[in-house]
Amino acid sequence: MITTGLGYDIHRFNEGRPLVLGGVVIPHHRGLQGHSDADVLTHAIADALFGAIGERDIGHHFPDTDESIRGICSLHILSRARELVTARHATINNIDATLIAEEPKIGPHFEAIRQSLALTLVLPVERIGLKATTNEGLGSIGRGEGIAAMAIATVELPS
Ligand code: MG
Repeated sequence: MITTGLGYDIHRFNEGRPLVLGGVVIPHHRGLQGHSDADVLTHAIADALFGAIGERDIGHHFPDTDESIRGICSLHILSRARELVTARHATINNIDATLIAEEPKIGPHFEAIRQSLALTLVLPVERIGLKATTNEGLGSIGRGEGIAAMAIATVELPS
């Protein structure tokens, strides 16, 4: 049986933090605010995987009230999502994600990000789709206040 899951996340920019997207540190003058490393892309993908197997969301599995996980690398969260998929004897078919940001330009980092995600999910890199778009200057993202990400995951579950 094929199932799909949807993930969405948004984080506000914060001066003085590194910008981490898909586990890759992107050279930029500011990063994102969050309890973890604020890797908005990885969070959206983890939520998509949780959704595909009927699990609760990332906030349930990694609550931002838990001081023991402050500053956590979000690839750890993604690994946990994969573990839950594997525990159901399911396999990930593919991931597709879109980053929505006015800045920085993500294109030069696409391959590094896809490699990082593929490594964490133990998937061939071709199974990781990644795109980026701006918000055409509209709304909070358009004003450059943060970065959002959307993701979809397709999972094959034993019937
Ligand atoms: Mg998040």
